[in-house]
Amino acid sequence: MQDQNLLDKQTQIISSIETLGVVGSGQMGSGIAQVAAAQGLRVVMTDVSEPQLQKAIAAIASSCDRFIKKNAMTEAQKKRLLERIEVQAQPSISQKASILQKADLIVEAASENVVLKEKIFRELDEVARPGVILATNTSSISITRMAAATRRPKLVAGMHFMNPVPLMVLVEGIRGLQTADETFAVVRQLAERLGKTFVESAKDMPGFVVNRILMPMINEAVYTFHEGVASVEAIDQAMKLGTNQPMGPLALADFIGLDTCLAIMGVLHEGLGDSKYRPCPLLMKYVEAGWLGKKSGRGFYQYGQG
Ligand code: NAD
Repeated sequence: MQDQNLLDKQTQIISSIETLGVVGSGQMGSGIAQVAAAQGLRVVMTDVSEPQLQKAIAAIASSCDRFIKKNAMTEAQKKRLLERIEVQAQPSISQKASILQKADLIVEAASENVVLKEKIFRELDEVARPGVILATNTSSISITRMAAATRRPKLVAGMHFMNPVPLMVLVEGIRGLQTADETFAVVRQLAERLGKTFVESAKDMPGFVVNRILMPMINEAVYTFHEGVASVEAIDQAMKLGTNQPMGPLALADFIGLDTCLAIMGVLHEGLGDSKYRPCPLLMKYVEAGWLGKKSGRGFYQYGQG
């Protein structure tokens, strides 16, 4: 307790964010890096996989090209944006000379797995400078639990971006049980600086707000298909036309990633203890088959080249 007080007195939260750290360069990490670099921040992004980092840079470049086509960005802006992003493949975060040491705030966007995230937070705590806030982009996992894996629990918060990050305006902010008000204020300011609207989930409960509501609907759509009530196309069309959604639930599941959807349902099921959150067996089968949706080329739909 005494040590904790000492740490509190000595540690000034870093609130001026010039360099953003991003851990995990998948769909979300690459999107967060792109949006931060577009706003003039420097970005240091790591991943366990070198090919994934290359894929991320290519994805950011092609997203910029789409903005250029719509006259929302120039070639010169794209060049400067890409120059602001530095990447490093890291088999382990706690390796010496990690580029994450340069970060003023770090957003973790690795795969949705509680054991993995706990390990990452333990390692980030070693690598990040004192006073650096550690945020997580988790869709559903306990912020409180990740915070407890560090020696800076007051400096940990949820910063849940939506997919695709460059287009979606919401950032859901989540306080862990230990999150300090100053930490939450910095996270909110950063989200707003990135052009996002910040909505607070006041309690750190499984799935927070968005996925507590969205994922059971997606899971129910998978059951509806599994039970032969309607085809994939019919389910999506019915929900698009019948409930005014821009995208049907099965197409959205493919877009999110079926592994991520299954992981979130698992967190809801275990964390809330209600059988109504039981993941659909067909969702499990698709993930076992490696049919993860758009990112793997096949899910409820097939995704060809281009
Ligand atoms: P993804 O599968 O596209 O990417 C995950 C990345 O994490 C991969 O590149 C993987 O190599 C990397 N990774 C795994 N272990 C790592 C480690 N130890 N260190 C560094 N990198 C590591 O997944 P995603 O869709 O980008 O999701 C990432 C996070 O964002 C998850 O927590 C997910 O729940 C959350 N999220 C996803 C969405 C969505 O729609 N996909 C939306 C909001 C939040």
